[in-house]
Amino acid sequence: MPVGYDAGRLYADAIVEVPVTVYPPGQGPDPDRTAGIDLGIIHPYAAAGPEGQGLLVSGRAIRAECRQHLRDRKGRSRAAAGRAPKPGERGSRRWRKHRRRERKTGARHARRVRQALHEAAKEVISWAVANRIGTLAVGDPRGVLHLKAGRRHSQRTRDWRIGHLIRALSDKAEAAGITVHLADERGTSSTCPQCARRVPKPAGRNFTCPHCGLAGHRDLVAAASIAARGPGSGIIPAVPHGPGITHRRAGAHLPGVHPARRDPRRRPPSRPAPRRHLAGTGPPPTPPHSGTREVARGNARNTQARDNTSRTYELVH
Ligand SMILES: [Zn+2]
Repeated sequence: MPVGYDAGRLYADAIVEVPVTVYPPGQGPDPDRTAGIDLGIIHPYAAAGPEGQGLLVSGRAIRAECRQHLRDRKGRSRAAAGRAPKPGERGSRRWRKHRRRERKTGARHARRVRQALHEAAKEVISWAVANRIGTLAVGDPRGVLHLKAGRRHSQRTRDWRIGHLIRALSDKAEAAGITVHLADERGTSSTCPQCARRVPKPAGRNFTCPHCGLAGHRDLVAAASIAARGPGSGIIPAVPHGPGITHRRAGAHLPGVHPARRDPRRRPPSRPAPRRHLAGTGPPPTPPHSGTREVARGNARNTQARDNTSRTYELVH
């Protein structure tokens, strides 16, 4: 068993043979039932299957983790920049401590994201098994990775870990008895699956075809188009909408996701945030007490002022 060392931790790689899942007759994945998978940054996996069934896995927690890690890392390097050794100089103890902390937090970040992506892939396979889908057509977007896109988008693309997304899905699919086919995904998010005409790429999440009026979630529209590029008959399934869409989140274990949305690593706000209901939930807002008191005090001052003026008026006259 190969043993390695990474950022202060020993690890062992275990290679084991896992049997392919056996299903009761007539309940296993059907190779003729195909789902298309669109890989994305907002939604690591979006799947469109037969009978208008769809799955959206949200990657919000993963993106938050990446963003927070980058922010923390920038802050630490800014703080330690003065301790950096000059060329040819041996780093100081504090500098080496800083470097060690960087390695540890970097490794922890990678483990967290890796775990979250595995969870996301598992959601897809569970969904596919529940819908008896035997073939997954996965749009392979790796052609865009070499394009120059500026430092912000390049960082986003790196955080995406597209190779890992594909590998994790393929491994789990194989163990579940599902076949994975990589398909060319070019144009799937800008082509209408109903009338096959080019549509300007939507800026938001909603896809609307100006030619035939088809509307749906952008990633599910792309997934439906990808499904037709699988090895099957090439029929584009109906774009999932409404109750046919299953929503899942990846990375429930990540800091700040559960139970509080606030990242515990962030400094608490100096002033507690006003307690408000989320839009559309809870009872209608009652006027805050401080406001009424303010009004009352204002009135009192006004009456007093009026009294004063009347008194002075009386005193004068
Ligand atoms: Zn159309």
